[in-house]
Amino acid sequence: MTSVLRLKAKLPTPLVALADLAYDYWWSWTEERVSLFSIIDPIRWQACGHNPVALLEAVPLERLWQVAEDPYYLNRLRHLTSQFEAYRRNGQAQNQGGHRAPWANQVAPQISPDRPVAYFCIEFGLHESLPLYAGGLGVLAGDSLKSASDLGVPMVGVGLLYRQGYFHQHLNRSGWQEEHYAHCEVNHLPMELVRDEFGQPVTIKLDIRQRPVRVQVWRVQVGRSQLYLLDTDRSDNDPLDRRITSQLYGGNPETRLAQALVLGIGGVRMLYALDIEPMVYHLNGSHGAFGLLEVAQRDLRYSEADFGAIAAQVRQSSVFTTHSPVSAAGNVFAADLIESFLGGYWPHLGLSREDFLALGNHRPDDPWGLFSMTVLALRLSGKANGVSSRHGEICREMWQALYPDCEMHQVPIGAITNGVHAATWTAPLMGDLYRQYLGYDDPTPLTDPSRWARIDAIPDDQLWQRHSLLKERLIAYTRDRVRTARHSRGEAADEIAAVDHLLDPNVLTLGFGRRFSPYKRGELLFSDLHRAIRILAHPRRPIQIVFAGKANPTDEEGKRIIQRLMEWCRHPALRDRVAFIEDYDMAVAKLLLAGVDVWLNHPRRPEASGTSGQKVALNGGLNCATLDGWWAEAYRAGGAGQAANGWMIGKANPVADPDVQNQQDADSLYDLLEHHIAPLYYQRDGQSSALEGHRGGLPRQWIAMMKASIHSCAPIYNSDRMVAEYLTQMYMPSPEPVVVNAFS
Ligand SMILES: *Cc1c(COP(=O)(O)O)cnc(C)c1O
Repeated sequence: MTSVLRLKAKLPTPLVALADLAYDYWWSWTEERVSLFSIIDPIRWQACGHNPVALLEAVPLERLWQVAEDPYYLNRLRHLTSQFEAYRRNGQAQNQGGHRAPWANQVAPQISPDRPVAYFCIEFGLHESLPLYAGGLGVLAGDSLKSASDLGVPMVGVGLLYRQGYFHQHLNRSGWQEEHYAHCEVNHLPMELVRDEFGQPVTIKLDIRQRPVRVQVWRVQVGRSQLYLLDTDRSDNDPLDRRITSQLYGGNPETRLAQALVLGIGGVRMLYALDIEPMVYHLNGSHGAFGLLEVAQRDLRYSEADFGAIAAQVRQSSVFTTHSPVSAAGNVFAADLIESFLGGYWPHLGLSREDFLALGNHRPDDPWGLFSMTVLALRLSGKANGVSSRHGEICREMWQALYPDCEMHQVPIGAITNGVHAATWTAPLMGDLYRQYLGYDDPTPLTDPSRWARIDAIPDDQLWQRHSLLKERLIAYTRDRVRTARHSRGEAADEIAAVDHLLDPNVLTLGFGRRFSPYKRGELLFSDLHRAIRILAHPRRPIQIVFAGKANPTDEEGKRIIQRLMEWCRHPALRDRVAFIEDYDMAVAKLLLAGVDVWLNHPRRPEASGTSGQKVALNGGLNCATLDGWWAEAYRAGGAGQAANGWMIGKANPVADPDVQNQQDADSLYDLLEHHIAPLYYQRDGQSSALEGHRGGLPRQWIAMMKASIHSCAPIYNSDRMVAEYLTQMYMPSPEPVVVNAFS
């Protein structure tokens, strides 16, 4: 019996429809749907990590029957069930806006549910209840599956099932990050083990370390997209092999290489085992690149052609999105490791050791060099792109050596700027306001600027009131989390009591949430501590900041940054103004990104795109960031009666010396906060800037900036626009296939 049937058997008859909803992440896209589960038992909902299957299994029958007899609840359930059924048939429900299903079908009729886009990624961030993501790459993959579903683009995700997920962050008494992994009970996750017609799990086999490894497959439903997750944790595998897929980015190079084999080669074998023959292979990040070799391997079996000719064929249906802006970063393997794992594989491709290693080598003069998955992906993909215009330029420069016949501007790496799934990342309070003023039943697509032009119709006080509520909620949540953390560290009673004074809803609130790694410069705000204190603890125009983010387990410098931030959280002049929320994840992100007044982003340039600022813009927050990634495209300085949509830190172009750059950017940040941002925020309707007056007056110019930000960012930096661009620019066969560094 499938899991969904088991769950149905348990539910009272009037609630049976809940089971289908629980097993499709469509439920997670709007608060209206989420609350269908959360109100059954709010406390258990928290305890279950917002997982509806675990919730329904844990709630006592008594309570389920109570709900089953509530006519109001049953009405809502009926309403959402019929919406759900209509969605499964037609894609985006009319009143959600968005392209109707026929759009994708007209644009690309050759892409069909039988011949979908196969989207390979090492992480997928769909929701906090499915811990298969670490950060931006995974959330992008999750948002892509959701928008593909909304737009009616047939897409299947291919990823790995990590039973221990990604690490949880705990900061000890000295502020040092400790990592721990929670084991997740797969049987309580909203996914099905894929079985054949005899009820047996579908498995595929591949050789890793000269041993056969059996891989089973789980299916997660994401609206009309599916996510297939490969899993080696089977009792018929060697204990070492069972752990291949246990942790995201965990383990040593061998484990990471084994994961790349399972994702790539295993992923393609799995698709064929399920009778799915992709029209397009899209590698989001390079981890799945071995999959394209497997596609070539299959084609070679039925062909007289050699690898070079077959590779040219593979390139006609493969797309690669590169993410790292640094060529040396990650995802490279030593040649002898490649040999020990793949030595048995390359003969099937008709390749010698040298030919094979050359596929991943970007320095022809160094045959013993590292094998780069990015190079392999570039060599085997017909089209490649970076994730913002700037990033595209950087990639062309970075990889020009791979294309000796091309001038820089001819290097065939384009750009599609990232976007975020609007329904997922817009707080319900804001989404409701938008629907009210932009039209409840407006069929205009989300990506149409004319829809967002009506943002000016929202009365200032209503926008401000909703925003203020979201900020209050963030502050209450932050206090809860900090209090719990101090408790668990066994801190003194007065330290715990002090949390009652942490943050103030009337104070200008900044946010910073992302991975702590030196290049992201998470402590730029404190590079001059005296100046930082003067600005944050200003008597009339105070500023506060909430931090969140993890450091890579191996990144000592990143952990030291967190440790210093924790010291500033305790600094007598800053203790009420600086907070750190531990264990950043999608749930924290939703609250943090919707509740801040200003979002900071100031990585050392270049950065790929960044997406959290886009989520902030959807909720009316303002970005203050270096001119990089998506912000280099989105920033509008304002003027001529137009409000700016945020602020730019530093100058448009970076300087070479990192110390000079830090100094320049820190000065600029201080100057902006002190002379522009705080004065504007505290400038209220006919009121002086006395702290007491805040609740009364409205910051009219600030609100004008909020509207400018929503209006200019929302129609563009969403994943509907992004997926539509992938469809038309990358997935559609071009009349003349772009030839990328033909293998010779
Ligand atoms: C959006 C998001 C990210 C990516 O943010 P960047 O701005 O790209 O750094 C990372 N983690 C979580 C939980 C997110 O929601």
